[in-house]
Amino acid sequence: MVELDSVSKVYPGGVAALRGASVSIERGELLCIVGPSGSGKSTMLNLIGTLDRPSSGTVRIDGYDIADLSDRELSALRARTIGFVFQQFHLAAGVPALDNVADGLLYTGVALAERRRQAAEALQRVGLGHRLDHEPHELSGGERQRVAIARAVMGDPPLLLTDEPTGNLDSVSGATVMALLRELHAAGTTVVIITHDRDIAADLPRHIEMRDGQVQQAATWRA
Ligand code: ADP
Repeated sequence: MVELDSVSKVYPGGVAALRGASVSIERGELLCIVGPSGSGKSTMLNLIGTLDRPSSGTVRIDGYDIADLSDRELSALRARTIGFVFQQFHLAAGVPALDNVADGLLYTGVALAERRRQAAEALQRVGLGHRLDHEPHELSGGERQRVAIARAVMGDPPLLLTDEPTGNLDSVSGATVMALLRELHAAGTTVVIITHDRDIAADLPRHIEMRDGQVQQAATWRA
């Protein structure tokens, strides 16, 4: 699903956020990226998410070397392959849950009625079928994050990238969100989670440990 080969990323100003990082993620994995603040986790997630291009090295997503793709082709690959979930939810204020999710397919050319139908389905899938008309301020933090996850899984992308998805939630809501990510994984989605939370990391089958822009240790597997 994901192949990073000797990837470096130097930001303008000279910060080397990644230094020769190599990582391979198989289809259907559930894993976390851990490491201290500033170690390159978000940079790695942005590169895996094709939101940014490496300074050197190769990034392959779903078999495509992203260096071979134009920005437009890259957007198309991203749209059909990758869902994103962030710590801050990034929902539009004053917009009902149904349309927050339906807007996830805004640029795909799918008609509004069909987008809403799929959005209702996605909200059912995350257990929010009874909250379609609620605006973000009428939802709890955990429910907001479930709306964001529903939006991310619209169109059933094979890869879900999450950056501190429980970072703004109390432990009960966080557990609900983690259970949902596990369900999506069980249904076949490849799920990558950046987390600072040791308890969450301890429960996941594989850790990619980052330090100073490098992958710290070989992947550890648990059945
Ligand atoms: P983490 O997610 O592990 O906290 P990041 O990938 O965000 O680490 O950052 C790695 C390093 O790159 C840090 O030193 C950070 O300050 C720097 N950095 C991140 N984004 C940028 C940017 N857009 N421009 C310049 N430096 C950046």
